[in-house]
Parts: sequence; C-alpha cells; structure tokens
Amino acid sequence: MREYFEKIENLPQDEFLKKMKQCLIQEEKRFVVTANPETLMFAQKDGEFREILLNPHTTIVADGIGVIKGAKLLKMDLKHRVLGVDLALQLLSSCHELNKSIYLLGAKPEVIEKMKETIKKDYPNAKLVGAVDGYVEDKEAVFMDMYKKKPDVILVALGIPRQEKLINKYYGQFDKGIFVGVGGSFDVISGNKKRAPSFFVKLNLEWLYRITKEPSRLKRFFDSNIRYMFEIMKERGKK
Ligand code: UDP
Repeated sequence: MREYFEKIENLPQDEFLKKMKQCLIQEEKRFVVTANPETLMFAQKDGEFREILLNPHTTIVADGIGVIKGAKLLKMDLKHRVLGVDLALQLLSSCHELNKSIYLLGAKPEVIEKMKETIKKDYPNAKLVGAVDGYVEDKEAVFMDMYKKKPDVILVALGIPRQEKLINKYYGQFDKGIFVGVGGSFDVISGNKKRAPSFFVKLNLEWLYRITKEPSRLKRFFDSNIRYMFEIMKERGKK
C-alpha cells in the first residue's frame, strides 16, 4: 500500500483543480485515477491494474476518505482528498471557459443523453465532440473516433477497473488530452442520482449516504474495505 500512497497527489483539492486547468491550457497530457480503497485493493490482486497505478504517466488522487485514513495509519503524509465528481465538474467548466473540447464515454444511454443536455445548457462553450454510452460493444472504435477528434478532455465512466484499463490501452497514442476515469459521476452530474448532501460530505460520510440509497453496494463496500483495513494493519505491523 505504501507505494500507492507515496504516489498519490497531496495537494488541496482547489490547488489540484487549478493544476489540471493549467494542463488544459498548456495542452499537457494527463491520465488521472481517482482512488478509493476498492481501487487500491483491486491493484493488489491484478498485476495489470497495479502497473497502471504505479506507471509514471499516471496521476492518482485520493477520492475516498478511506485512502486518507489508511495513509494516516501507516504514518504517511497524505492529507487531501480530490473528489472525482468535483474534478469532472471543474473540467467541464474549464472547457466552457476556455472553449475546449470534450469527449464522454460511459454510463447508460439515457444518462449520456442527459449529459448532452446538461452540457448544452450549463457549459455551452464546451465543444462536445463525442458522447457514447458505456454499453456499446466496440470500445476500440470509440477510441479510434476519439483519436481523430483530438479532444482536450476525455471522461470515461465505466467503473473500475474497466475505465482505467481502457484509457491505459490507448493513452500512449494520444498527443494531448486530460483522461479521467470518473466512475458514477455522469449519474450524479446528469441529475440521475443525487449527490450526497453537503452534511454527509463535510463529515466524510458520502459512502454511507450512497449505501443507504443503493443497499446493493453494501457487500462490495464491506468486502473491499474490510480487506483493505486488514492489508493496512498487516503493513503497519511490518514497520
Ligand atoms: N457502466 C457502463 N458500462 C458497463 C458497466 C457500468 O457504462 O458495462 C457505468 C454505469 O452505468 C455507471 C458507471 O459505469 O454509470 C459505474 O458506476 P459506479 O457507481 O459503479 O462506479 P464507482 O463510482 O463506484 O466506481
């Protein structure tokens, strides 16, 4: 776990978001992974995913509070969370402000349709050059289309590990673009699912809000978080 924590950006969210805006202005390529305990646990069992996280071209931010807590237990200096939804929203508003182009891949067809409307209405200067739902078979064709259109921002919402593996497969071929795996963010941004009220966010309890809304998540959450705590305690015992 330490190797991941060492790699995670330790900047306050607003500073990290400013940094991404600078990358957008300067057309610097980036691949951002928004990590939670489930992400780190998946890397423990999947070599390809682990390599993606540790690859120098990957930027990791701590999305879930569990990442910060785990680092703290290992006495590592990692304080700041960057929420995936906020990163996606900020990139949308920067695209609007700077007349940049954006490509969306992921989520259900009705959600991607709502995303198109949201962008037209709230971010009218952002050039939406592609919007494809996450259930199309041929993802390679989507990336080929993306390659032709050379978007400035690419948001991929397929959940882990699919979104990261797919981005990683094609990332090397692109000359520019900020690529982010944004999980369920389109569901929230499109208004399809409610974002946790600020009360929950302030207390770092959005995970709890999500589980109350979608109890089917409980098992997945419980499994990965309990295993994660075991892993952290094991490493803690080593030093
Ligand atoms: N999804 C998709 N294609 C698939 C499976 C999932 O586009 O084959 C989408 C799904 O509709 C949802 C997102 O991927 O919008 C994953 O959301 P989830 O909340 O599970 O991700 P998390 O934020 O927990 O990683």
